[in-house]
Amino acid sequence: MWIKGDLHVHSRCCKDGSLPVAEIVERSREYCDFLAISGHCRYPEFFRAEQQYAEVLEARKKYDIPIFNTGEVEFPVPRHVIFITTPGNREFELLQALVPCFCRRNKVEGLGAAMEELAFVEKEWGDKVFMIFNHPNAPDVATEDLLAIARSPVFKVLACVDRRERRAPQTWDAGGAWDELLMRGHRISARCGSDFHRHFADGGDDQYPGEFVQDCLEVAENSYDEIFKAYVTGRFFCQAGNVLSSPVFTFSGENRLRIELNFQCEMERIDLISDGRIIESFNDLSEKFCVDIPVPKGRYYRVRGVGKMQKRKYEEGSFEPLFLLNPLYS
Ligand SMILES: [Zn+2]
Ligand SMILES: [Zn+2]
Repeated sequence: MWIKGDLHVHSRCCKDGSLPVAEIVERSREYCDFLAISGHCRYPEFFRAEQQYAEVLEARKKYDIPIFNTGEVEFPVPRHVIFITTPGNREFELLQALVPCFCRRNKVEGLGAAMEELAFVEKEWGDKVFMIFNHPNAPDVATEDLLAIARSPVFKVLACVDRRERRAPQTWDAGGAWDELLMRGHRISARCGSDFHRHFADGGDDQYPGEFVQDCLEVAENSYDEIFKAYVTGRFFCQAGNVLSSPVFTFSGENRLRIELNFQCEMERIDLISDGRIIESFNDLSEKFCVDIPVPKGRYYRVRGVGKMQKRKYEEGSFEPLFLLNPLYS
């Protein structure tokens, strides 16, 4: 089955958030099957970790969907990362351990410190945790830094879209940093997050978790363990604007690739990318897209697509719907 969710969500427990955790869950339930609450970890004045955790525990009792407890950590290589673990694995202690020792805002800076942090997490939490590098374009992160960080098995996910339509070229572009990582054999996946702070309806400029961007995961059931597994193995795709559902993306034979997509909006272009470049583009698209094509031997294949410009829901102007299928490895 496919489920949708969002791992990048701020609540009132950090200074620039607005809603209690329960209300975020209530309002985003129609868009999300799971959530992570990830307040800015800027102690002590900016983030109330205990309150966030207490609200998450309460919300878990009230709502029957997985709600991860985490935080946006100030990583020594600028700027924000999120560590995800499941409730049974010292979820609260993880942030408590990291923030006092590795917060960039306390002058713990640079690649060396980042590697120390990742080594610490790996030693203490092993394969029970993974890290997302958020908005690699705010500020632009050096590809060499990402390549170094990717040597840690903890780093699994790189963000593409965060907060409204902020799209990271590092992740989106063919031949960008993400492709560099994939070409060097690092199995990193891409995700989109709402970076929800305050909704348009409440005077902010965000949409609810899942309302505009979605991570869509293929799971056996909607559980913490299955969600965790889908993220670390890349069994998911991400999108902005509800472009598609239930894609088929698989090897159909030796050096053959099958792609079957059902679109929910008018499409503009689809690119098949391998080894850092577009190997085929498709422009003449209808509601259904289906190809079974021979492909050259490559180390990985990924697919991205953009839809025709659409009107924004809450304000003037338009946006470009997009999706990214996570790589297949040959
Ligand atoms: Zn951030
Ligand atoms: Zn954020």
